[in-house]
Amino acid sequence: MTKEISGKYEAVIGLEIHVQLSTKSKLFCGDDAGFGGDPNTHVSAITLAHPGTLPKLNKKAVEYAIKLGLACNCKINQYNFFARKNYFYPDLPKGWQTSQHTHPICLGGIIPIKTENGKRDVQMHHIHLEEDAGKSIHDIYDDYSCVDLNRAGTPLVEIVSEPDMHSADEAWQYVNEIRKLVRWIDVSDGNMEEGSLRCDANVSIRLKGEIKLGTRVEVKNLNSTRNIKKAIDYEIERMIKLVESGGKVQQQTRSFDASTDTTFSIRDKEEANDYRYFPEPDLAPLHLSDEYIDALKAALPALPSELIEKYQKDFSLSEYDAEQLCAEKEIADYFESVLSYSKNYKAVANWINGPVRSYINDNKISFKELSLSPNQLADLIQLIDEGKINFSVASSHIFPELLKDKNASAFDIATNKNLLQTSNDDELQTWIDQAINKMPDKVKEYQKGKKGLIGLFVGEVKKLSKGKADPKKVTELLQKKLDN
Ligand code: ADP
Ligand code: MG
Repeated sequence: MTKEISGKYEAVIGLEIHVQLSTKSKLFCGDDAGFGGDPNTHVSAITLAHPGTLPKLNKKAVEYAIKLGLACNCKINQYNFFARKNYFYPDLPKGWQTSQHTHPICLGGIIPIKTENGKRDVQMHHIHLEEDAGKSIHDIYDDYSCVDLNRAGTPLVEIVSEPDMHSADEAWQYVNEIRKLVRWIDVSDGNMEEGSLRCDANVSIRLKGEIKLGTRVEVKNLNSTRNIKKAIDYEIERMIKLVESGGKVQQQTRSFDASTDTTFSIRDKEEANDYRYFPEPDLAPLHLSDEYIDALKAALPALPSELIEKYQKDFSLSEYDAEQLCAEKEIADYFESVLSYSKNYKAVANWINGPVRSYINDNKISFKELSLSPNQLADLIQLIDEGKINFSVASSHIFPELLKDKNASAFDIATNKNLLQTSNDDELQTWIDQAINKMPDKVKEYQKGKKGLIGLFVGEVKKLSKGKADPKKVTELLQKKLDN
């Protein structure tokens, strides 16, 4: 498709993201809500929907939904209640999903993303609480399907955006931001492989400048950020081609085929009233007090967007550095703990974003598992700042030793390995003489006026001293010697 044709259209995308809350027990009973387990082992009479059983709301799940709402700048809906969404499915024993409909727990909200044209807030519609269904498994036996109800009744929030994104990349960023946020405030592990975060993408196109929304399709159950991007790109192109060739977009539910990066229709969209929603009679509505909400707000950690701003403003870090430090809460926490021992913000940031992070990535560990204590890193930085060692000696000779021993000190290692920088004149003079004797031609050139060559001599002295020579002092001594 040519740019000219695709440029006539604007894509419109709205996402529905299901996030599994990391509570210990399910939304309406005490069954284990953890991932995995032998099939049908996390199933009490309530999960199995035996007649006469009643739901009991999990307070933690409500708390998590509110925390997420606060973190997204939503309005917390102080009067909200559950509703039955009625449909038949083998992995839904009650015959309805207990969800929220007209009165969800959080309203509105925003997620900041970065686009080609700068930063922008994606508008959210609402967040509601609901229970998950079980799992139907079709690929074990040829002749029949299996049902595992361990997941039935586990708590989810569904985060529904406004139709406010306009490219696969924007949608990708929105999902990543949400994933980061739920992990940051510790309400979900956001693990897409295990299905803790799943996304349905609603996609439509319209001519640029048009206000009315086009007919949308909904691509279901996208389980990786890669698939979200691919599915949206595929849909946009499919729709444009369809419309350009005189066709009309049908409202459909579609599925993504990751082996071909295409989508296919699974059903024409049901009418909106198919589910016969009505308020859940077995659960009382929630009345959330100001005090309760305020207490949850006060307990929230500083959010990544706040810290990114703070690190730039208070510590004069670049936006990039600040963002790197806030990629995960564990990194920001580590950064902050090093700052209790060091005020060289830039150096601490560089060490964490550089050697420390490479080590973490190479060894596939998390910051929590890092053996290097904040104190050790701060001491290492201080040795550099005091001119006792240089960065390259620190990173290649001392840092690896520190990682091996929690109790080791940078200074002791530097002393034992004879790595401390020296400004001892006699010692320096020996290296300087060696360097000069090695390059008589360059000395002549220098003395004829090519003063830039000083760097070459300093470099040679550094090499001869294996990084121990204090470059400032060396430069001084060299100049004195050569200028005579
Ligand atoms: P449903 O619950 O039937 O899926 P909603 O109207 O609640 O439908 O919308 C679900 C999602 O679809 C929301 O994220 C919304 O922003 C998005 N959406 C609605 N209409 C469009 C459209 N024409 N194009 C793209 N996204 C849309
Ligand atoms: Mg939907």
